[in-house]
Amino acid sequence: MRIDVISIFPEYFAPLDVSLMGKARAKGILDVRLHQLREWAHDVHKTVDDTPYGGGPGMVMKPEIWGAAIDDVVASGEGLPRMIVPTPSGRPFTQAVALEYAAEPWLLFAPARYEGIDSRVMIEYGSRLRLDEVSIGDYVLAGGEAAVLVMVEAVARLLPGVLGNAVSAVDDSFAPGAMENLLEGPVFTKPPVWRGHEVPEVLLSGHHGKIARWRRDEALRRTFRKRPELLERGELSKADLKAIES
Ligand code: SAM
Repeated sequence: MRIDVISIFPEYFAPLDVSLMGKARAKGILDVRLHQLREWAHDVHKTVDDTPYGGGPGMVMKPEIWGAAIDDVVASGEGLPRMIVPTPSGRPFTQAVALEYAAEPWLLFAPARYEGIDSRVMIEYGSRLRLDEVSIGDYVLAGGEAAVLVMVEAVARLLPGVLGNAVSAVDDSFAPGAMENLLEGPVFTKPPVWRGHEVPEVLLSGHHGKIARWRRDEALRRTFRKRPELLERGELSKADLKAIES
C-alpha cells in the first residue's frame, strides 16, 4: 500500500520507522512518502496560513498551497488515491473504516494545523477524488498528524504480512464477524498463579470448544459492563444472552 502524507511537520511521523510499521516498510508492504507542505509555498517565509475571513481567533491554511501540493502528489502516481482529511467534524474512525482503507492501494492524508484547511480544498478534491473527512474521537488535537499516525497504524496492521499471526486481527475487539460488536475479554500468560491470582481453569484445560465459549462469554460480559450500547448493534444467541445474565 502506498501512503502519502502532506504536513508541515513530516518529522512527526518518525514512529512509523518503529516496530510493526517499521518492519512493514522494510518489507515493502507499506510505502510511506512524507511531504513538507511548505515546499509548495513560494514566499520568503514559506507561509501556509492566513487570517480567517469573517474574523475570529486562529489562522486558516491557504487553499492554493494545499491545492498545488495535492495536485503534484496525485500526479506522481498511477490512478487516484483515496484522500483522508482528519478533522473533529469528520466521520468517526472505527475498525470498519480501517478495514475499508486497508483494501485501498493508495491513501493520501492531509493533516492540518491551526483552525484547519480552507473549506474550498475539501469541495474541490471531494469532486475529483474519493475524499473522507475523518475524526478519531470527540476531542480536539493540536494538529492532524497524531490522528494520521493512529489511522495508519490501525490500517497497516490489517495488511497481509504485517502481523506475525494474522489470526490475532480476527480475534480483536471490533473485528468483523464474531467480534464485530464486542470488546475482547481478559488474556493471561504464564505463570498459572501470580501473587495468589490464578489463571481461569478452563484456559489450562486444553478443551478448545470450552475455551472458545469462555472467551466469547467473557467478551460479552466485558462489553455489557463497559460499552453496553455496542451489544444493541447485533443479534445475540440464547447462549450469549445467558452469558450476559450470569
Ligand atoms: N477548530 C477546529 C474545530 O473545532 O473543529 C479544530 C482545529 S484543530 C486545533 C487542528 C487540526 O487538528 C484539525 O484541522 C485536524 O486536522 C486535527 N484534529 C484535531 N482534532 C481531531 C480529531 N478529533 N480527529 C481528527 N483530526 C483532528
